Amino acid sequence: MRNTPILTIVVPCYNEQDVLPITAPLFGQKLADLAARGKIDPASRVLFVNDGSRDQTWEIICALAQQSPRYTGISQSRNRGHQNAVLAGLMEAKDSCDITISIDCDGQDDLNAMDEMVDAYLDGCEVVYGVRSKRDRDSFFKRFTAESFYRLLNWMGAEVVFNHADYRLLSSRVLQELAKFEEVNIFLRGMVPLVGFKSTSVYYERAERIAGKSHYPLRKMLALAFDGITSLSVKPMHMISALGVLIALISFVGIVWAAVEALLGSTVVGWASIVCIVCFMGGIQLLCLGVIGEYIGKIYLETKRRPRYIISDRTPAPESDAEE
Ligand code: UDP
Ligand code: MG
Repeated sequence: MRNTPILTIVVPCYNEQDVLPITAPLFGQKLADLAARGKIDPASRVLFVNDGSRDQTWEIICALAQQSPRYTGISQSRNRGHQNAVLAGLMEAKDSCDITISIDCDGQDDLNAMDEMVDAYLDGCEVVYGVRSKRDRDSFFKRFTAESFYRLLNWMGAEVVFNHADYRLLSSRVLQELAKFEEVNIFLRGMVPLVGFKSTSVYYERAERIAGKSHYPLRKMLALAFDGITSLSVKPMHMISALGVLIALISFVGIVWAAVEALLGSTVVGWASIVCIVCFMGGIQLLCLGVIGEYIGKIYLETKRRPRYIISDRTPAPESDAEE
């Protein structure tokens, strides 16, 4: 490990023309500060990942890249979602830097936590999670859904750090290992702990979005939770098996009961109870088939081995770098 690591700040951007002109200089300033204090190498960069935005985001990134060699950008060929955008940025950066810090571009995550992250790296940690200390400023609904999301994930066996999103420092060693995780259904929050290495957390307060609006409504949060669970855990399958065993036991008792009643000659018409049982069993079976079907769908997508991101453009490298 060298003393002054080269840092790449990886910033996914999707339709962020309102907020990018405000936050981009903040990222640049942070790099300059850290470099001036001798914490990171002056060759450190900000790497914007344009996730197929339909507004002026890419033009803004290109203009930033012209303005200073500190800013670089790549563009995905279409919108693939936040996780894929972050992964594209990390994989792009992994061979040209010592550490990456991924952060959203909306100014919600406190940039000052980066100082502590870099310090933790210099102390020997290879993974540093940025954890929100409180969510006072989120609405009750957002806070409740987000916290339930972490509880559900942990309960389902996906090991995630509570209240940690995708603000984290990774060393190039971790990135090289992460690159070997070839799954298409990616959920970085769950995958990084699986890579291992020495890790720690730094705490920060999460602010409100500076401008623009959230791209994560409840529907997308549920989809992300579902991806997280199915990509990391087979617990729902175990639960189905357990439910199957339980229902089989109950049915067995039912059969014995029915046989005894029949032998005693006290059978009655019993139409209602049969209908109830049939409906109940039908419902359970469909539910179980649905969950199993979801996993098979995921297996289907994985077997296709489609690329997880396609980079269509890169900001041109500054001339001075080209000669190196
Ligand atoms: N983002 C992205 N692709 C998407 C949606 C979002 O790259 O399809 C980026 C977005 O530009 C932002 C980050 O992911 O930098 C987090 O999104 P957002 O702030 O909308 O989510 P929230 O903070 O509300 O969960
Ligand atoms: Mg946000």
